[in-house]
Amino acid sequence: MAELTLTGVTKRFDDGGDEILAVDDVSIEIDDGEFLVLVGPSGCGKSTTLRMIAGLESVSEGTIAIGDEVVNDRPAQRRDIAMVFQNYALYPHMTVRGNMRFGLEESTDLDSATIDERVEETAAMLEIDELLERKPAELSGGQQQRVALGRAIVRDPSVFLMDEPLSNLDAKLRSGMRMELQRLQNELGVTTIYVTHDQTEAMTMGDRIAILDDGRLQQVATPLECYHRPENLFVAGFIGEPSMNVFDVTLDGDRLVGDGFEYPLSPEVREDLGESTELVLGIRPEDVEIVDAVETDHEFPVEIDVVEPMGDENNLLVRIDGTETTFTASIGGMRRVETGERKVARFPESAIHLFDRESGRALHNRALDEEVELAGSRL
Ligand code: ATP
Repeated sequence: MAELTLTGVTKRFDDGGDEILAVDDVSIEIDDGEFLVLVGPSGCGKSTTLRMIAGLESVSEGTIAIGDEVVNDRPAQRRDIAMVFQNYALYPHMTVRGNMRFGLEESTDLDSATIDERVEETAAMLEIDELLERKPAELSGGQQQRVALGRAIVRDPSVFLMDEPLSNLDAKLRSGMRMELQRLQNELGVTTIYVTHDQTEAMTMGDRIAILDDGRLQQVATPLECYHRPENLFVAGFIGEPSMNVFDVTLDGDRLVGDGFEYPLSPEVREDLGESTELVLGIRPEDVEIVDAVETDHEFPVEIDVVEPMGDENNLLVRIDGTETTFTASIGGMRRVETGERKVARFPESAIHLFDRESGRALHNRALDEEVELAGSRL
């Protein structure tokens, strides 16, 4: 077990004379036994970060430390790290047993009987003990993924690195494996960094999420903290499905003026905005209320453009009257709303977020009921 510390980690690639800054000054402290999810859009530098930690890629600047020891110059095989890849990377000519034994034979001097014992124990834990004598081609994708995991677990490393390990599985299997991986990681207590571009995996799996965009770290926090208290517009838009609704607005006195609506602010919210006047108003779809008549000054008439029934909820595409401005509202699955219906949308002030339009920085985040227990969160 080990804590892992990235300090000012930077990676530059030379692309035929052009410099690509793939990872830009990333600092993260990962606690011993923590499950950290590294998430961000394609090309943001996730895999490069992971490969630098694994020792598969050199570090241009900054340090990577396992425990107290800087490992920048330590070769991959001496970092006590096990990596699980998206494509499983199993040896096709070896049986499951052979695949799981291989790493141990290479990296330890355990005797053959002890290796077998460890392989069998791990296989039983992953419920693949019946498959030990099969070759990878004779396994389903889910089973292959278990073998790849088993091969990492059997080595009993200080750190697990997982690069999109579930993305080749179908949706149902993926959600099952998501839970199983969390249970396993909890049980084993091994410090884990898990890379994904899937915000659902990030929200559900991590003790904390580190969000990267364009090589730069945007926020490191618990999933609920990122969801309710995004530090900037990028995090607000990336975390949550459907995404947070955002509207360009201008502050005029103590009112926000948007396309087709005005929104007065209470002194408490107004105070958070300082001198900024060019803003972005954000509200999550589940916080938009759809009602029948205007009762407060935080409501405006809308037309329902599209109804998407999801079973447990209906996602509505809603258009502000007299404009082309649309947004999403999620309402209870049992409520009947028809396309073309005219309704009223309410944005409760307690649920709105406000960002500086130029920098993207969050100036005001939604209120949270103090009673709300944000499990594991450091709010
Ligand atoms: P994805 O989710 O698509 O795998 P990612 O977030 O893992 O993306 P990286 O693979 O880390 O992104 O790539 C980050 C940036 O570095 C990209 O712009 C990529 O093109 C560039 N890059 C990665 N490896 C190399 C390389 N060996 N040479 C040059 N550029 C590279």
